[in-house]
Amino acid sequence: MIPFNKPPYTGAEDQYVIEAMRSDKMSGDGPYSRKCQAWFESMAGCHRALLTPSCTQALEMAALLIDIVPGDDVIMPSYTFVSTANAFVLRGAKIVFVDIRPDTMNIDERLIERAITPRTKAIVPVHYAGVACEMDTIMAIADKHGLYVIEDAAQGMMATYKGRQLGTIGHLAAYSFHETKNYTSGGEGGLLLINDERFVDRAEVIREKGTNRSQFFRGQTDKYTWRDIGSSFLPGELQAAYLFAQLECADKINERRLNIWHKYHDAFAKLEGLGVIQRPQVPADCQHNGHMYYLKLRSLAARGAFIDWMRKHEVLTPFHYIPLHSSPAGQSFGRFEGEDVVTTNHSERLVRLPLWFNMTDEALDQVIAHAIEALSLDQ
Ligand SMILES: *Cc1c(COP(=O)(O)O)cnc(C)c1O
Repeated sequence: MIPFNKPPYTGAEDQYVIEAMRSDKMSGDGPYSRKCQAWFESMAGCHRALLTPSCTQALEMAALLIDIVPGDDVIMPSYTFVSTANAFVLRGAKIVFVDIRPDTMNIDERLIERAITPRTKAIVPVHYAGVACEMDTIMAIADKHGLYVIEDAAQGMMATYKGRQLGTIGHLAAYSFHETKNYTSGGEGGLLLINDERFVDRAEVIREKGTNRSQFFRGQTDKYTWRDIGSSFLPGELQAAYLFAQLECADKINERRLNIWHKYHDAFAKLEGLGVIQRPQVPADCQHNGHMYYLKLRSLAARGAFIDWMRKHEVLTPFHYIPLHSSPAGQSFGRFEGEDVVTTNHSERLVRLPLWFNMTDEALDQVIAHAIEALSLDQ
């Protein structure tokens, strides 16, 4: 069976993880954590980077930092992972779902303004497949209405919008290092990116169980006490050690993923010309990171037939994201603003192809050959 993902592996992880294991410091914010955070601050250029145990928890920290309270509205696409919404629902917010763009599957920036009410506190753009949302427009809307922008950049590390790294544009942002993402910290992991320096001190306190332990260890205060609400949002050193090996190969991982992505893209050009499928589109201002290759088939039934055929030929091609507004929790915690023109229709036709860093050319050629065969039957 060809899976749709395997965790990225570069070769240096073993050594770094063992080194961290044998050191006298395995809890959070040790040497590897600090090295990773410094890497993000210089590579991405965020004001401050804080490792978290997951992207979900980085989003939860963002909701705490912008003081989401019951009665607040938060605007986001319905076509996203549950954590994008859950982080804000946990603080009592109502979610206002807005339709997406058919070209990128990202929130349609032209529909955001009409979803804003006096209760709106934040906009959460999700950079689907590592392709940027239209951030200049979104930031201008947020500015005009006094709203926060939290980028769900779970899939966006190493991708850019007008030359700027995703995750450095909104007030706050989150990356994921889950094993299905481009870089992993050993299965689970995440990062909170702070671009508005007003949030830095409080973020450190919230992340350390509501205490000023971070300042204490830096010698900036002589006692450490309970200061605010908070939780345990630090990963251990083994996760950071695993991640650091991948950061050292960040360009290599990115190049290989892009290389696989382009091979898929070239292979399916002809079938797109015949109207059998639609390929992903990347706006001119966006440099993506090869996070995902997907195809859109003509119908839900065509997608089902494609997945069955591929499985019969030992290739796993999953789909994802049942739109949140159509899920039981989405219906009780949110509402869809405007008409669902694109979200349901396009998400029902989308299928993902296998793509991982260590994927061999042989596996890639096999997937392409089976997919072309399956789609040719469909003409
Ligand atoms: C993967 C993902 C998340 C959650 O990331 P975790 O690190 O697993 O918590 C959130 N949002 C989006 C868009 C994702 O793709």
